Amino acid sequence: MKTVVLKFGGTSVGSIDRIKKVSNIILGYKKKKNKVIVVSSAMSGVTNDLIKKSKLISNQFNEAEYDVLVSTGEQAACALIAGRLSHLGLNSRSWMSWQIPIITDGPYKSSRIDKIATKELLKYINSGGIPIITGFQGINIHSRLTTIGRSGSDASAIMLAKFLKADECIIYTDVEGVFTTDPRLHKKAKKIERIEYDEMLEMSSLGSKVMQPTSVQDAKLNIIDIRVKSSFINKPGTLITKSFKKKDFSDQIITGISSTKNDAKITIAGVKDKPGVAAHIFEPLSKNLINVDMVVQNISLNGKETDLTFTIKSEDIKKTEKIIRENKNITYKKISFDKDLAKVSIIGVGMITTPGITYRMFKALASEKINIMVISTSEIKISVLISSKLVKKAITVLHKEFKLD
Ligand code: ASP
Ligand code: MG
Repeated sequence: MKTVVLKFGGTSVGSIDRIKKVSNIILGYKKKKNKVIVVSSAMSGVTNDLIKKSKLISNQFNEAEYDVLVSTGEQAACALIAGRLSHLGLNSRSWMSWQIPIITDGPYKSSRIDKIATKELLKYINSGGIPIITGFQGINIHSRLTTIGRSGSDASAIMLAKFLKADECIIYTDVEGVFTTDPRLHKKAKKIERIEYDEMLEMSSLGSKVMQPTSVQDAKLNIIDIRVKSSFINKPGTLITKSFKKKDFSDQIITGISSTKNDAKITIAGVKDKPGVAAHIFEPLSKNLINVDMVVQNISLNGKETDLTFTIKSEDIKKTEKIIRENKNITYKKISFDKDLAKVSIIGVGMITTPGITYRMFKALASEKINIMVISTSEIKISVLISSKLVKKAITVLHKEFKLD
């Protein structure tokens, strides 16, 4: 007998009809004699609506009340699913996070799950019951409701799988799985059957929206296999799992290609080359919560000055410009801004041991006359900053070059 955690995302439970459909999926697992635990997110749109309401009440809505408010969507969805399962003759009930309890740590709006009490839950599951548990919410040591960040119900499911020692954690969503690249940008994108945690972490951080990076991190730390699949059509999906690839030889060196949009580039030219300058530049940016992504620094030929280039999101450009111009701690000769840029990244653990990947990427881009503005690399990814108009072209040529078509 297997224990499975099934998590349903907003669109999977987005209407009464959808809730009936996922109830049938749950019934299917029960018929196969599994022990089933269900985690649900709010019906799609509900959380956004609640957030809007909080803003209308106050632009500084109390953070603890914010969590109470925005986590109500999950409560409604869980009651509806449990109600439908009872209707189908199954033994099921809803469990709010505080009833379990799911104990969280950290600030409101972005708490982390610390512990989950399992005794009562296990008793119920072992007696054949199907608990329908609210994703996204928890309770802190002050007995107040908390939430664990947007899209957090994936993390709720992963942590429940960990504490209940489940055999499988299945994330039901509205896409078939994780693709080699965004199918809307490249028709030949293929579903990936298996992907390693580290690759998935890079994919989610670099623009693939299938899973939130912190959830992948939770799965990696706790070695929980995750299967991402569609609740709309019955296909195997993608397995996110621990390292399985032979690192020495594989003709599939690159697992996926992701892209971000709305990137902007800032170059500060003629900055004094001395210790502390970079810190002076980035300190006020970080204080103002401006997310700096790629950073490149170049020493001038005379060795006394440097040019510093970094990227941010386009929406932060005005604020960033103001902060830099008002920064009394730095001097520079010139500053320039570019927007409408995009970052395209190739990802794959195979590049650790395969030489020449960088060259192949640059050559492929050059063959399409795509100009590279900034480059950054890690052990398992190479990112380039290019004009956002060329993203589709870049993905197409790279997808082909690395035999993903
Ligand atoms: N309902 C929450 C949100 O929209 C959590 C989730 O969907 O995972 O962010
Ligand atoms: Mg969601």
